[in-house]
Amino acid sequence: MDKQFDQFRASLLYCNKCGRAMPVRERLLLVLPDGELYEYLCQGCGSSLGSKTERATGPKVSIGKTPPPAPPTGRQKRPPQRKR
Ligand SMILES: [Zn+2]
Repeated sequence: MDKQFDQFRASLLYCNKCGRAMPVRERLLLVLPDGELYEYLCQGCGSSLGSKTERATGPKVSIGKTPPPAPPTGRQKRPPQRKR
């Protein structure tokens, strides 16, 4: 597989052994019922710097449930003022 670019998705993580932020490599650790657990390995020394769970979510679209966003109107709302 040509997935080299996946490495760059996870940015740098601080590695205690290397003493600085190091590029990390994602490694699939576990496959959970609702997602996948990834481990971040330091590319310098290979120690685990962290992990993340990637949820295997279904389609993200929820139709009919999105509240209409209130766009900020450019106008200033004036308080009602009556002229005499
Ligand atoms: Zn390291």
